[in-house]
Amino acid sequence: MLFAHLVEYFEKLESTSKRLEMFSILSELFQRVEKDEIDKVIYLCEEQLQPPFRGVEIGMAEKLVERAIARAAGTAESTVRERYNALGDAGLVAEEFLSQPSTGAPLAVATVYEELLQISGTSGEGSVDRKIGRLADLLSRSNAKEARYITRFVVGNLRLGIGDPTLMEALSKAIAGDRSLRPTLERGYNICSDLGLVAKTLMNQGIAGIERLEAHVGNPIRMALAERLTRAAEIVEKLGRCSVESKYDGLRCQVHKNGNRIDIFSRNQERMTDMFPDLADAARTHLVAEQAIFEGEALAMNEETEEMQPFQVTVQRKRKHGVDQMAKDFPLSLFAFDLLYRDGKDLTKQPYEDRRNQLDEIIRPGGRLRLANRIVTDDTEEIELFFDENISHGLEGIMAKKLDSPYQAGARNFNWIKLKRSYKGELIDTVDVVLVGYFLGRGMRVKFGIGALLGAVYDDQHDTFRTIAKIGSGLTEENWVKVRQMLDEGRTEHKPARVDSLIEPDVWTTPTYVFSVLADEITKSTMHTCNRNSEGVGFALRFPRIKEWVRVDKKPEDATTVTEIVKMFAQQKGGGAPK
Ligand code: ATP
Repeated sequence: MLFAHLVEYFEKLESTSKRLEMFSILSELFQRVEKDEIDKVIYLCEEQLQPPFRGVEIGMAEKLVERAIARAAGTAESTVRERYNALGDAGLVAEEFLSQPSTGAPLAVATVYEELLQISGTSGEGSVDRKIGRLADLLSRSNAKEARYITRFVVGNLRLGIGDPTLMEALSKAIAGDRSLRPTLERGYNICSDLGLVAKTLMNQGIAGIERLEAHVGNPIRMALAERLTRAAEIVEKLGRCSVESKYDGLRCQVHKNGNRIDIFSRNQERMTDMFPDLADAARTHLVAEQAIFEGEALAMNEETEEMQPFQVTVQRKRKHGVDQMAKDFPLSLFAFDLLYRDGKDLTKQPYEDRRNQLDEIIRPGGRLRLANRIVTDDTEEIELFFDENISHGLEGIMAKKLDSPYQAGARNFNWIKLKRSYKGELIDTVDVVLVGYFLGRGMRVKFGIGALLGAVYDDQHDTFRTIAKIGSGLTEENWVKVRQMLDEGRTEHKPARVDSLIEPDVWTTPTYVFSVLADEITKSTMHTCNRNSEGVGFALRFPRIKEWVRVDKKPEDATTVTEIVKMFAQQKGGGAPK
């Protein structure tokens, strides 16, 4: 496919504010794409060169891109900067300076993709200049519109806002004529976290190829998630005899071991090995297996006193610089709780009990790698006691697991059930909302230019963000200013296509950031679109306030879902403390 054709689709995608339209545009695009380039087109639609876990980055800041534009256009860098200051969009600047029709052969999608990949792989001495040279060359071979999108892609500002479920539905439509393949594609995606690979497998081997996809060391598996209940008795009713584990409030890690190589992936499938040198070492030395994929929760803990640090301490480790000092000041421990792969064998279909027993076998005791504490029981009182014991040790609660359940990648169901200490007089859990816009401040807040945030939850069935709250408290003055800057970076002219809202905020923003919000209760509301029925009644959060801002471990699609809100609403009626 010619890159110019892909760019036409990008233009259409960018201008729509309707998800259904986005779906039709994409399915038409996928029908036109060749088998061997579908993975590349998928990655570009996802606004990346490779799935995030491969850690591939172009590594060109705006300044360098300005230099490349100047070189391609044969003009002074200062002239380019001037226009950038005026237009505020590197893509438009490139378009303006490269408006002469290109004389060479038209660019193919594969050529542009390979060039960008080469730029990302350029390293070592003189690499900055070589990157600029390569990009300048690519821009000089492109027409004005192509230059706009290449440049936006390079600076990470493409902002098509397409969700993976919409891509999967569009793929299904292109191949099968309807959306029926989505569940199978989703299962394939959950096991390899690489939508380009899923699409390529589908095009080349059909749906049978997707069904054959298995866990693979090096490809993160999308994580299994838990439902909530409010009482120990309900857990016994639901699961019978089950495994009940301590619930650690840290960072979820999926560790992949292949001989001496260790990779650690986050809740949202990002590679974070470099942030956890201590845990990587522990996995290298305390795991008796050549190959393994296991999961656990990483937590800052004082080894002498066994005192667990709060989440805010653990999360400081998510950084690029100063990791060694942090590792000294707040060493982490990894509490392992599941084994998904062992020496050539995918264990995800095995029952939980078997996986956990094998995990116990391969972890050599001692050091920073530990096993999550657990009991196996069907006795309500025993669970309650275990719950109290965990709370008194400063833990968050417990996690119950169904003994005969497989590991269902990417699914939230009752195979795992969380029971947390309840916040008095408040909802049984925090709600993770995605910010989709903000309102300019009134009164005191005028000076910050932001007064409240528009928060949405995720409708995973329709790949849509539906509003649930207008949030105006829980941040310091300084942080209000920071949040506004963050949201301004994703500012859009019209409502993003995947957002469903009756409220029009002063500023729309691409759904990017997830904040944890506490509220008193979930109420019915005609203002919000979360679970809105034919009578126009949906759900809202009463007295929402920010508990934790920027959940760095969550993508927008990892926010609380509409289905979870419906369940939380039902639970709060008969709810209360978990006993
Ligand atoms: P979620 O991860 O379910 O979207 P969340 O990020 O808000 O929600 P919680 O609701 O507090 O987190 O609880 C779920 C998380 O608890 C898991 O994702 C995992 O990181 C953590 N966890 C702690 N201990 C365990 C355990 N023993 N087994 C499984 N998960 C555990």
